[in-house]
Amino acid sequence: MANPVIELSGVRKSFPQPEGGRVAILDIDALSIPAGEQLALEGSSGSGKSTLLNVIAGILRPDSGSVRIDGIDITRLAEPQRDRLRADKLGLVFQSFNLLPGFTALENVLVAMSFGSDRPDRQRASALLAAVGLSHRLHHRPAQLSTGQQQRVAVARALANRPRVVLADEPTASVDAAHQAQVIDLLRGTCTDQGVALVVVTHAAEVAAAFPRRLRLEQFNRAATAAPAAGGE
Ligand code: ADP
Ligand code: MG
Repeated sequence: MANPVIELSGVRKSFPQPEGGRVAILDIDALSIPAGEQLALEGSSGSGKSTLLNVIAGILRPDSGSVRIDGIDITRLAEPQRDRLRADKLGLVFQSFNLLPGFTALENVLVAMSFGSDRPDRQRASALLAAVGLSHRLHHRPAQLSTGQQQRVAVARALANRPRVVLADEPTASVDAAHQAQVIDLLRGTCTDQGVALVVVTHAAEVAAAFPRRLRLEQFNRAATAAPAAGGE
């Protein structure tokens, strides 16, 4: 079988506490995500979901362990190589989208392309925005777009460099319940069309229910604090 797109081994991450000492957040023996897989990563608030995504993306360095992206251990790379690997292999959708306010939708996708190995391609950027239903909003800035439209720009941008995997952190957190399913359908549909693996982090069971594979952080993370009783948030 081909390499998994993501493979964690012996990953530990702790943070310093204000009162001194450190608190363990991640202690993961193994986590493997095969190419093209769509996975919902569930966990209660504060269980370490965002920390895990940031470790996978090489934004946070783990205390120990390896994080292989397409076979390359991102924890061992110097910063420029790490940034390049992230830009080439990973598409990130942040909870707050992180679009560049001074740039249009099209320019936001082009700027993302400029960090990858291939030359920015206007036609492909337009096609990505068309795929998320924004062909009529290419030249709007984020402030001129609705929240849902900004989110779709973020999805198009995540796919800019033909990543192997899209990592989305609570992508439905800032949309109303009625539009949650639309966002998830859009992410899943575009990732299926482009053959890209998808990891969606969520604390919402109804979001996770749409996915063929669901994993709870508490199941494979020994450092996870006990979830509140009766499945509450
Ligand atoms: P989740 O995304 O599952 O809600 P996070 O990964 O954001 O959880 O946080 C997990 C735990 O780590 C929380 O208890 C949080 O307070 C703590 N934490 C996160 N980032 C830091 C940091 N930079 N410094 C100290 N503690 C942190
Ligand atoms: Mg979080």
